[in-house]
Amino acid sequence: MDGGPRLGRYDTIVVGVGGMGSATSYYLARRGKQVLGVERFGIPHAMGSSHGHTRIIRLAYYEHPSYVLLLRRAYELWREIQEKVGEQLLYITGSVDAGPEESWVFKGSWESCRLHDLPHEVLTGAELRRRYPGYHLPPEHFALLQPEGGFLTPERCIVSYVMAAQALGAEIHGHEKVLEWIPLEGGVRVRTDRDTYEADKLVVTAGAWNGGLLDVLEGLAVPERQVLAWLQPTRPDYFRPNTFPVFNLLVEEGRFYGFPVFGVPGFKFGKYHHLEERTDPDGVDREVHDYDERLLRDFAERYFPDGCGPTMDLQTCMFTNTKDNHFVIDTHPEYPQVCFASPCSGHGFKFASIVGEIMADLAENGITRHDISLFRLERFRERRPEARAGRWALQHPEEDSRRRSFPRVPDVKPFW
Ligand SMILES: Cc1cc2nc3c(=O)[nH]c(=O)nc-3n(C[C@H](O)[C@H](O)[C@H](O)COP(=O)(O)OP(=O)(O)OC[C@H]3O[C@@H](n4cnc5c(N)ncnc54)[C@H](O)[C@@H]3O)c2cc1C
Repeated sequence: MDGGPRLGRYDTIVVGVGGMGSATSYYLARRGKQVLGVERFGIPHAMGSSHGHTRIIRLAYYEHPSYVLLLRRAYELWREIQEKVGEQLLYITGSVDAGPEESWVFKGSWESCRLHDLPHEVLTGAELRRRYPGYHLPPEHFALLQPEGGFLTPERCIVSYVMAAQALGAEIHGHEKVLEWIPLEGGVRVRTDRDTYEADKLVVTAGAWNGGLLDVLEGLAVPERQVLAWLQPTRPDYFRPNTFPVFNLLVEEGRFYGFPVFGVPGFKFGKYHHLEERTDPDGVDREVHDYDERLLRDFAERYFPDGCGPTMDLQTCMFTNTKDNHFVIDTHPEYPQVCFASPCSGHGFKFASIVGEIMADLAENGITRHDISLFRLERFRERRPEARAGRWALQHPEEDSRRRSFPRVPDVKPFW
């Protein structure tokens, strides 16, 4: 059909209009594609991984220095979309990555700055406290301060991308659940709880639900319950965006992240992998319990004592973890008309802009100019002697033998 949308038939269907799906819909629409984005909840919503007012963005990247190139483009695209919609989505506060001198958070962050020639300063815990008095880190710890770090406003980013996509003709359907997709000769059929559609290409960006829609991700993208706290600071002047850089800290209690006061009258923070609870995204415990709050308060009382006033809010959210905590972004090994992105493991939102661009590349051309070699599905596959000839067998995530009250999700490993 020439011109306008073909009834029930699209160039690309995007399943899941959260962080990644909203950006993907926009970058496809910008290339003149007829896009249908299908979202099972509202737009935006608080049932997945992209709610809670703020998400850290930082250039220094202790998880692996090869993220830095992608981040430069991600920053560029965030600035572009915020200018397009006329709303600030990116706030620069500086970012702190801190821990003991040999810790992978501090040292990895420092390595990434040196490798990519990023402006940065190294401060001791004592120096950091003099500069930013909200911080009370052990004086002998080290902090990498990178001036371009800050935060994004995730719900507004999603709304912005969706509205910009709609302005270019994309169709976005909220409260419509994709039940299945069926590969066709030269396309896909998608059945939802409301209708059936066809498209040339399918992009699956269903976050914690990816495993249920993609057999190839089953057991490889594991949802995990998280909890966040917002506490009213007793010294509000120490916790403003201009006096309090976002942080990633490795301390003896674990790895934590946090933000200045924004959107809620409280200092926000959380612990990576919280209680290490693998979960089913439809059955996740969304209540916050006393023990969840206690764990978070104990941390804040020790390292941010002036941030520890009354509780303002407590929320749950979901990570979707891979074994190595790097993303999974690829085309389907059997159906090249299908591609998917599972970029979480607790650090994916800052990349949503560039992941949208990558998914548009993969849907349009099957390849992308961006280096996604770190994220290919292939890395989880190994040839096993017992595997059928010519077939790839899935590696199972290593189990940890330590006794715990919850199944354990392993933390990121240092890259050096
Ligand atoms: C507590 C917490 C803190 C975090 N902090 C940071 C941070 O500071 N910085 C950072 O960069 N990252 C952070 N992350 C990670 C980041 O938020 C995620 O990587 C990112 O939000 C994932 O986006 P997504 O699009 O994959 O998932 P989502 O945004 O959850 O989108 C998936 C969408 O698919 C929809 N969907 C699922 N199944 C279906 C279906 N069958 N039919 C239709 N729709 C469907 C869902 O409803 C959802 O809207 C954090 C995550 C959490 C949970």
